[in-house]
Amino acid sequence: MNIKNVTVVGAGTMGNGIAHVFAQYGFLVTLNDIQSEFIDRAMTTISTNLDRQIKKGILTEEEKQKILGRIRRSTSLEEAARQADIVVEAATEDKAIKGKIFQTLDGIAPTHSILASNTSSISITELASSTKRPDKVIGMHFMNPVPVIKLVEIIRGHTTSDKTFQAVSSLAEKLEKTPVEVHDYPGFVSNRVLIPMINEAIYCVMEGVATPEAIDTVMKLGMNHPMGPLALADFIGLDVCLSILNVLHEGLGDSKYRPCPLLKKMVAAGHLGRKTGKGFYNYQQD
Ligand code: NAD
Repeated sequence: MNIKNVTVVGAGTMGNGIAHVFAQYGFLVTLNDIQSEFIDRAMTTISTNLDRQIKKGILTEEEKQKILGRIRRSTSLEEAARQADIVVEAATEDKAIKGKIFQTLDGIAPTHSILASNTSSISITELASSTKRPDKVIGMHFMNPVPVIKLVEIIRGHTTSDKTFQAVSSLAEKLEKTPVEVHDYPGFVSNRVLIPMINEAIYCVMEGVATPEAIDTVMKLGMNHPMGPLALADFIGLDVCLSILNVLHEGLGDSKYRPCPLLKKMVAAGHLGRKTGKGFYNYQQD
């Protein structure tokens, strides 16, 4: 399948990174969000991140301008998806929002279009069932920051065809990413393994086993992790960690996934990590 036109739905943290990478590798991108200010903000972030690549000697200023020129903006989903060979949905992690987007896309996108989701935890099979093309619905789970991290989890829903899987895997390779095949179970692989480890680290804090600094040092120096689990939780957002744990707990029905009470308490207090200036560490400027 010859993929040329890519529509990215949602211009937040992940959407801007996904648009950046597709445009960098020569694809024609349409970036969609519900408000033009959100797309403006994404374009500013993309421009800043491209400057970083120029400083590292990965790109030239001329290439930057070409990349930016390949990204079209649109606040109309109908208009954005009309010519898409593939849509990568990276909207807010909410089942109702994503279900509606997939239903709308199914009615607009050309019949050959693949509808992919960047969801961290929502069932691809369920998203597929809100369309009349469940064989062409798939998970394409990029990692943050998208221009840097090489992994893409490719999630096969129960009805995803081999043809769709092959097309999306080779697309990831064209972006110089490493696609890994995963089946549609709660949390896929990345969050099924990572988030319980973070939860366990939070239990260690709650039970007074060690301080956050000590726990992170054990995991960094002892296990050679580039970042400790609590610093990583602050980076991901404690609310996001809690919602993924809830998906694992409900979806797999095993008490080993129960969210740590301290995590629930910190989320209730609004201590969500870096984005609120306070989590396991303090990020507020004096
Ligand atoms: P975000 O909140 O930064 O961005 C979401 C964007 O979607 C917002 O700009 C919002 O306005 C837009 N949006 C909401 N409803 C929309 C609609 N109907 N149509 C178009 N745009 C709409 O979120 P994010 O962190 O970029 O996450 C996006 C997706 O990527 C989620 O499914 C999340 O689980 C997944 N994800 C996130 C990370 C991460 O580290 N942040 C990593 C992997 C996957």
